[in-house]
Amino acid sequence: MPTPLPAPYFVAASAPAARLVGLDAADLAHEDFVAVFTGNHVPPRSQPLAAVYSGHQFGHWAGQLGDGRAILLGDLDGPEGRMELQLKGAGMTPYSRMGDGRAVLRSSIREFLCSEAMAALGIPTTRALMVTGSNKGVIRETMETAAVVTRMAPSFVRFGSFEHWRYRDKPEELRTLADYVIKTFYPDLAAAPNPYLALLEEVTRRTARMIAHWQSVGFMHGVMNTDNMSILGLTLDYGPFGFMEAFDVDHICNHTDQGGRYSYANQVPVGHWNCYALANALLPLIDDQEAAQAALEVYVDAYGEKFDELLHAKLGLKTTQENDRALADDMFKLMQANHVDFTLFFRRLGDLRVDEPEADAPLRDLFLDRPAFDAWAVEYRARLRQEMSVDAERRLAMHAVNPKYVLRNYLAQVAIEKAQNGDFEEVRRLLAVLERPFDEQPGHEAYAALPPDWASHLEVSCSS
Ligand code: AMP
Ligand code: MG
Repeated sequence: MPTPLPAPYFVAASAPAARLVGLDAADLAHEDFVAVFTGNHVPPRSQPLAAVYSGHQFGHWAGQLGDGRAILLGDLDGPEGRMELQLKGAGMTPYSRMGDGRAVLRSSIREFLCSEAMAALGIPTTRALMVTGSNKGVIRETMETAAVVTRMAPSFVRFGSFEHWRYRDKPEELRTLADYVIKTFYPDLAAAPNPYLALLEEVTRRTARMIAHWQSVGFMHGVMNTDNMSILGLTLDYGPFGFMEAFDVDHICNHTDQGGRYSYANQVPVGHWNCYALANALLPLIDDQEAAQAALEVYVDAYGEKFDELLHAKLGLKTTQENDRALADDMFKLMQANHVDFTLFFRRLGDLRVDEPEADAPLRDLFLDRPAFDAWAVEYRARLRQEMSVDAERRLAMHAVNPKYVLRNYLAQVAIEKAQNGDFEEVRRLLAVLERPFDEQPGHEAYAALPPDWASHLEVSCSS
């Protein structure tokens, strides 16, 4: 059962998330909803539960992990299907280990904003309905205050949920879990000759595609442990995540990840590694090592095809040509050498006009080495002419896939600091901006700006 928090208050709610479960966000500030979504009042038909899982953390087997602070309330039907509602930070569970079962306001706001920002970017993700807070103190590096974020997903089952029963040597529980997941979320696979093998292959494919989406917006998860990998291929467990600013393929967003296991570039092979861990867990059910190995191989093509498709759209290319890979590689090298802001680059690239290089200034200004940019732009323009690209058309298409607004760390930080002083307006304003990441939003240009100097000292870690 959730453990009540003293005097809970409303912080923010997501209107699109509320619609998914037939609720109106305007109602959620009411004290009855605040009580329910803090865990202070358990609705009569709810049967709260915490689900056990284990996992590999930073490449090492870590044994049993959670749910140490997430409690499932139940599910609600909505226009896009059934959603589970889960309270994160609602108190201790049988799996809390050394933890206090709580989450702090800072990390809850980060998870809330990023879940909804990712959804608005069209990236598979768990959702966040609302955040509530309480002035109860929670000890982290410093004293902070408690919060609860209500998360939603069709399921929160993780790769680690399967690993748990595998390493406990409980084949019947493993089968029960796999059968539940197939029957409920992958019903088409039930008819496959080997449904468990089909499950592995489909989850591998979805994981690869999810990571292609991450790479295409410069999103870094920060803690891609197997207990944070969703069996539905959703981005799950937002902690020390980051959006790439100055482009660097080796960027590490998580201060705790000293070896860079989960750096931007490593996300792609680590996603594959995690699917291997899932395959190991499912092997007693699959009962065919060679077939499992073959199923895992879909990762490379699924990733490559999805990333290629997303990259073509980002570059405004409608056709595929032999030299596209080289053009993109040169572009990424140039972005790397010039520390070019990921989001601004693609957004401004959409404004390029094929026959007016003199209008390139805002884009060109992102580069220190202007002649190198000019040389690349000559190639890019040639490529656009090859498919008789029309400026206005391409601009519209590119702006629909290259966001203007992403959750930069400093934006989250500003909103968090205000919230910590009892002012939640900035969280709500930022959420509204991030709900329309592709739209020009007059008056909100500041949210698309480069990070200020003070933000270069910002560090995010696993502490949450
Ligand atoms: P994370 O790195 O946030 O995904 O956390 C790893 C595991 O530790 C999760 O499975 C959580 O259940 C657990 N955990 C993290 N923080 C706490 C906490 N404050 N209390 C209890 N369990 C926690
Ligand atoms: Mg986790």
